[in-house]
Amino acid sequence: MEEWRRILANSVVKAKDLADHLGVDPKEIEAIVGEYPMRITPTVMATIKEKGDAIWRQVVPDPAELEDEDAEADPLVEDMMSPVPHLVHRYPDRVLLMVTNQCPIYCRFCTRKRLVGKPGFLKKGELDLAIAYLRDHTEVRDVILSGGDPLLLPDHLLERILKALRTIPHLEIIRIGSRVPGTLPERITPKLCEIVKKYHPVYMNLHFNHPDELTPEVKAACGMLADAGVPLGAQTVLLKGINDDPEIMKRLVHQLLLARVKPYYLYQADLTKGTNHFRTTVETGMSIIRALQGHTSGMAVPHFVIDAPGGGGKIPVLPADYLVHLDEDIAVLKNYENKTFHYPQPTKSNGRELPMVGAHSALTACRNGGNGGMDDL
Ligand SMILES: *Cc1c(COP(=O)(O)O)cnc(C)c1O
Repeated sequence: MEEWRRILANSVVKAKDLADHLGVDPKEIEAIVGEYPMRITPTVMATIKEKGDAIWRQVVPDPAELEDEDAEADPLVEDMMSPVPHLVHRYPDRVLLMVTNQCPIYCRFCTRKRLVGKPGFLKKGELDLAIAYLRDHTEVRDVILSGGDPLLLPDHLLERILKALRTIPHLEIIRIGSRVPGTLPERITPKLCEIVKKYHPVYMNLHFNHPDELTPEVKAACGMLADAGVPLGAQTVLLKGINDDPEIMKRLVHQLLLARVKPYYLYQADLTKGTNHFRTTVETGMSIIRALQGHTSGMAVPHFVIDAPGGGGKIPVLPADYLVHLDEDIAVLKNYENKTFHYPQPTKSNGRELPMVGAHSALTACRNGGNGGMDDL
């Protein structure tokens, strides 16, 4: 057995194991894992510092999961947007392909709580159906492997899928969404990197929610993927009591950049049944973006998005206060220090004069000078 499989098999999955490790009441947990499975890898167990901390809350079942009765199991209506099994086609040029229901850990706030943990990988016949659909749909240029976690597939199955996708001429990029590097770093082997390298461009978006997840082993696993030429992004879910704080989020994005991972999305928590105790207000996310933008590297600032209930897709939410006013003559802007600046719009061909307003006079002078400055470079 491969080393990482042995390590995965040593994860905490039963209420009793959890009681042995962390001293929680197994009775309380048992009822929950019957409904929504638990798995906590050794790496994640080792990262828990105390009961109720930010790592604990992501992976240890909470009775509130079963009390959340009214919410929808599939608020993003993914099941309705699935033309063939395991494939979700919501956007014009890209699709999601769910290749397994297994994950290294079962996040208590999972959007696909209705699916994850059930046994089984994408079967050969199902892969054939998905490939046939993609072959017919020449508008699809981007396929995102998701699940579950695609990196839990054995090497040969992952390679079978990548190889099949690369027989589709119009497919440009392949993406993999994974929480494996952060929770089962031993799975990132030289062999895996060799496989992935053959099918470039392959991008990965890795799931991280808290700076404590970026241990030296986890950073090393990310480094191996980066060395294999995989551009790495991070997806983070805004979670009450876990990372709903600008200081924690700033530490997270800095740790991500150190691990060669570019923060990509910050998600407002979905309305998924069994997860509503994790939701924050939308203002919390906006204030986190406000605390990052301009105050630290632009590279560190993710897009804050709400995956619209009812299947509207991801919609970006920006603090409204950057663009104070916009008309055909002028944009009035506020920077991160709350100072106001003016950007004049280009003049129309009818030769209308540029407005002369305060802070932009140097820019205006440059424009009127004719060559815009670029020719001098
Ligand atoms: C998130 C998502 C994508 C990818 O969206 P990007 O904004 O391109 O990262 C594609 N399909 C579905 C169904 C998604 O949920």
